[in-house]
Amino acid sequence: MLRRQFRVATLLAGANLLAMNMAADSVSERAKKLHFSSIVVDTHDDTTQRLLDPKFDLGARHAEGSIDIPRMKEGGLDAIFFSIWMSGKVTGPEAVERATAQINAVREQIRKHPNELVLATTADEIRTAKKRGKIATLIGVEGGHMINSDLSVLRAYAGLGARYMTLTHSVNVEWADSSTDKSAHNGLTDFGKEVVREMNRLGVIVDISHVSDKTFYDVLALSKAPVFASHSSCRAICDAPRNMTDQMIKDLAAKGGVIQINYHVGFLSQEFRNAEKKDPSINEAISKEVKRRCPNETEMDEACQLLEGDKITRDYVAAGKLPKVDYTKIIEHIDHAVKLVGADHVGLGSDFDGANMPYGMEDATMLPKITEALLQKGYSESDIRKILGENTLRVMSEVERVSKELNKKK
Ligand SMILES: [Zn+2]
Repeated sequence: MLRRQFRVATLLAGANLLAMNMAADSVSERAKKLHFSSIVVDTHDDTTQRLLDPKFDLGARHAEGSIDIPRMKEGGLDAIFFSIWMSGKVTGPEAVERATAQINAVREQIRKHPNELVLATTADEIRTAKKRGKIATLIGVEGGHMINSDLSVLRAYAGLGARYMTLTHSVNVEWADSSTDKSAHNGLTDFGKEVVREMNRLGVIVDISHVSDKTFYDVLALSKAPVFASHSSCRAICDAPRNMTDQMIKDLAAKGGVIQINYHVGFLSQEFRNAEKKDPSINEAISKEVKRRCPNETEMDEACQLLEGDKITRDYVAAGKLPKVDYTKIIEHIDHAVKLVGADHVGLGSDFDGANMPYGMEDATMLPKITEALLQKGYSESDIRKILGENTLRVMSEVERVSKELNKKK
């Protein structure tokens, strides 16, 4: 009898759990209405690598990866920052040449899909794009190594439409320290400070994702405009050096900035991070398999590596060798940051097509689930709109205002 009761109770608990999961996964009419009427901005996507492949059609729906026009539409993604990226080890004129080619590849997509995409360089242009039913397409340069220590290159990128630059990627640049390299400059060098001043003047957002804590504080002390982290999560939940501490999030917010939460499982979940650290042979085996599937050192194979890396990681999760991370972990990071600094300083920077996505957030079509989850947590509609995009638009407007002022003075 006891046993039977137990079994019934377990069955009921199971049924409840199932119902809860279904409730979280299915998006209510209220959430859909809110999501699709909001301006949804994603400040970091690595899809640019795929654009370098002449056979890749952004206008077609793909089974692989996370981003294409049909899936952005289905997920209500209104504005996307395509990341211009290459390893920080590529430097000098080669880095400039490759970055320029990537910027042109993004611009070429806008030319090819004029009914769906439009280049946006200001907050107002994003709002106009939304009104016209087009996806605002923006450009962010992920790594100061691509300016080859030359302000005229920075100006050229701004002229081509780049609206943020991440000061470093995962290794130091000649003028700024990265969070995942040994300190070489104690933050920003004098030239690094000039770069930040020039970005303020040009109206290019200073992106502090990836930089060392000292670089971050040097930027905060110097920048006349608010700054953002285009794709960083909370270090209090997952102790990755490129995530932000609670104090950093507070100091960023005090200057009007925004932390755009990154969806990569290794930055969301301590459990995942621990599992990776505990058995380094797993990552070594994944890297080896990635190299086998995408053997060439070309930029096109970098796209292949990013996609295959995600697939192989999923195989390891399926085999029980790495923990399964659910998309609700994104909500946990958003909520942590909101509890620290309020809803005015948190946004979305997925790292789609450049990282390992959690279960339930495999691509852009799943974005309305974030709106649903925040509603279920009791967030107000206006706070959700801020997190989905309005906070980023506010930072952009401020950066534009400061740029105008600085140009007047000269
Ligand atoms: Zn990154």
